[in-house]
Amino acid sequence: MADLFDKIHNFTAVKEARAQGIYPYFLPLQNSEGATATFEGREVVMIGSNNYLGLTTHPKVRQAAMDAIAQYGTSCTGSRFLNGTLELHLELERRLARFMGAEAALTFTTGYQANVGTITALVGKGDYVICDKEDHASIIDGCQMSYGEMRRFSHNDVSSLDAVLARIPENAGKLVVVDGVYSMGGDIAPLPQIVAICKKHGARIMVDDAHSIGVLGNGRGTAAHFGVEDDIDVTMGTFSKSFASVGGYISGKADTVEYIQHAARSLIFSASLPPANAATVLACLDILEADTSIIENLWDNAEYMRTNLKQLGYNIGRSNTPIIPLIIGDYMRTGMAWRGLLNGGVYTNPVVPPGVPPNMSLLRTSYTATHTRQHLDRALTVLDEVGRALDLIPGEGSLYEASAEALPVL
Ligand code: PMP
Repeated sequence: MADLFDKIHNFTAVKEARAQGIYPYFLPLQNSEGATATFEGREVVMIGSNNYLGLTTHPKVRQAAMDAIAQYGTSCTGSRFLNGTLELHLELERRLARFMGAEAALTFTTGYQANVGTITALVGKGDYVICDKEDHASIIDGCQMSYGEMRRFSHNDVSSLDAVLARIPENAGKLVVVDGVYSMGGDIAPLPQIVAICKKHGARIMVDDAHSIGVLGNGRGTAAHFGVEDDIDVTMGTFSKSFASVGGYISGKADTVEYIQHAARSLIFSASLPPANAATVLACLDILEADTSIIENLWDNAEYMRTNLKQLGYNIGRSNTPIIPLIIGDYMRTGMAWRGLLNGGVYTNPVVPPGVPPNMSLLRTSYTATHTRQHLDRALTVLDEVGRALDLIPGEGSLYEASAEALPVL
């Protein structure tokens, strides 16, 4: 007789990786100040966070969270739909709409829920949702939970998008969903071309700006970066990266947002964003609206690392944002590189199968506005040493050169 738990008994990969000392997940940090963190009692340079603007420890941001707890307590203990809406949520939504240049915005308790709730609300029976092959898992989950049909196109390939849309019945509702910045490859969606193809086929567009808000377009995201704000139907963002909090939001036309607000099950059937998290985002907006030099620091650091990592000989794929993958290929070598870097005081994130296809393992690195040149140089020294020791830095005819063109599907 089959036992449902057979899958648990056969699940040995984690035990094996632990035994080899290369299990890299769920490891506790004793402290996480932003540019650095404390791991196993030692300070490490943190190049594995999404704290792009380094605002998680900004004094005004900390104070705003503490003040909100003092005023409202720690939780709303209910959904936005019923008892979980505070004036603070509405204020945040007004501020986000203004920041995004949109008519309205709606906050969710996580970015994951924002994607799942929005896609399931918009895509019904008989509709189609079309995704880039590297779209984030929360988009894919939203598509699979919706009653519509899902189609995928090759990563950032507008002719593939065109061909996929051409095969969908003309009179069906169509939603194209792309990431503005891809979370592993660190490349940007070509929104002007995507907009043109969507218009040709009468498709609506949703952009996940989780890694673009606070980063691109003066902090306003990918559409602002390209000047196509009016052509995007729904923009999604998260508070868990540049906005130093947790939570998510969408922005768009008032009637679109109102519809989603009354149809998104992940909003209606889940407790609302805690007051401290909402207040944190308001404080980040204050900082960003007053002075965008923080974004310049972020880009200076990202360009410094991109230039130096390339110079060292790392394969960084198609990155042109503060997310810079180091594509290694082999799973074991990726684990060894991760451990070597950590031993040397540099924290990175390994991404291995099934998160990526076989032989496409990588270390995801990302940079923040608050890294100093000393932090970055410290990281580069260790990256040089480990890269050479493990023969990761490609030479003539390297095994790893081939992987530059084919970034992972995540
Ligand atoms: N979209 C993208 C592209 C992401 O990278 C993430 C988080 N890694 C999310 C959505 C989900 O956001 P959150 O962490 O707020 O749930």
